[in-house]
Amino acid sequence: MKEKIDFYMPTKVILQEGCVSKQKEVFKSLGSKVMLVTGKSSAKQNGAQKDVIEVLEELNITYIIFDQVMSNPTIACVYKGAQLARKEQVQGIIAIGGGSPMDAAKAINLLTVQDIKEEDLFNGVYEDKILPMIHIPTTAGTGSEVTPYAVLTNDSKQTKTSIGSPLLFPQVALCDAKYTMHLDAKITVHTAIDALSHAIEGMFSVKATTFTDALALESIQCIVDCYEEMKTGNLLFKEREKLLYASTIAGMVIAQTKTTTVHAMGYSLTYFKGIDHGRANALLLGAFLTYASIHSKNKVQEILEAMNLRDVEEMQTWLDSLLGKKEKLSQAEIHQYAQIASLSKGIKNCKLVLSLDEIEELYTKALG
Ligand code: NAP
Ligand code: ZN
Repeated sequence: MKEKIDFYMPTKVILQEGCVSKQKEVFKSLGSKVMLVTGKSSAKQNGAQKDVIEVLEELNITYIIFDQVMSNPTIACVYKGAQLARKEQVQGIIAIGGGSPMDAAKAINLLTVQDIKEEDLFNGVYEDKILPMIHIPTTAGTGSEVTPYAVLTNDSKQTKTSIGSPLLFPQVALCDAKYTMHLDAKITVHTAIDALSHAIEGMFSVKATTFTDALALESIQCIVDCYEEMKTGNLLFKEREKLLYASTIAGMVIAQTKTTTVHAMGYSLTYFKGIDHGRANALLLGAFLTYASIHSKNKVQEILEAMNLRDVEEMQTWLDSLLGKKEKLSQAEIHQYAQIASLSKGIKNCKLVLSLDEIEELYTKALG
């Protein structure tokens, strides 16, 4: 090997039906009082919260619940959660949910044990202190259960910004596809394409290695395998588990490579237009691959082969068949979003660094 490979993924990952109760001993490392961090309702509805509480009661671990995490969590939300965790002197954190509660839980954890002012939250300089945490994903998309990032809505920059630190890797990820069984068809597709985007963007990252490429290609294949079921919205446990596996390994990819162009551009679609995170990426992915097919033909070919597709036009048709009617942007919006994206780290993290004009062109091709 000519290149140095540095792959750090300290999270213990268990992918197993019923793993919350079957692996209950992992909860003992959280201490005697914990905080559950969830969204408003899904953790209660999909059975994950109930399973966790049963285990905690059996182990005599007391708990409080912070169930106020909204999609695309705000800075105010995580400071509020941390205030409660401090007041209650919790010793560990359990996140149950999609990327939003999982990311919020990481930020809450950091703010519980460290005094960090809002203006310093994203500067990457933290003390070496964190509470143990367990993440239980209930969407199959973000891979947050195995990444060192917490993505928050950042109003001062009118975008979404990540806190990134190895401290934020959860100790344990408990991945049980049964919690994802009743995700509606739209969320299923959007989150799956988020994972697909992680895998593909990871392959274009300046930090990509043979390890991350291998995981990315495996993830891409698994997602493509579930295409027909995603289209009809009829997914059995087998497909749900495949998507969860795919999203977790795509998370392992971006844990090393970070995200690149598509995420950098997608954040404005979420921030200004309220478009779901995964859908925002899905709307841009085809245009990015079309651009990449000119400048990085071999890499795109590798991806198309993994997807069993002939060319980028077929890839766009594949995406369109899952996305339904697509949103449109005005010229002024495209100009504004391109300015914001051009300043983001994700653009420079891609082997193909797009100029401001190229970013505008890409938005226009995708949504103009
Ligand atoms: P989400 O915002 O966590 O959840 C979306 C919706 O799905 C919510 O209404 C949620 O309800 C519902 N939901 C969750 N699990 C469900 C289930 N099992 N059954 C039915 N409904 C369910 O969406 P997400 O796409 O998973 O996460 C997006 C966030 O992750 C964004 O903020 C994005 O920036 C971030 N992200 C982070 C990373 C990372 O590495 N850290 C990577 C990619 C994306 P409730 O609100 O009631 O729970
Ligand atoms: Zn994402």
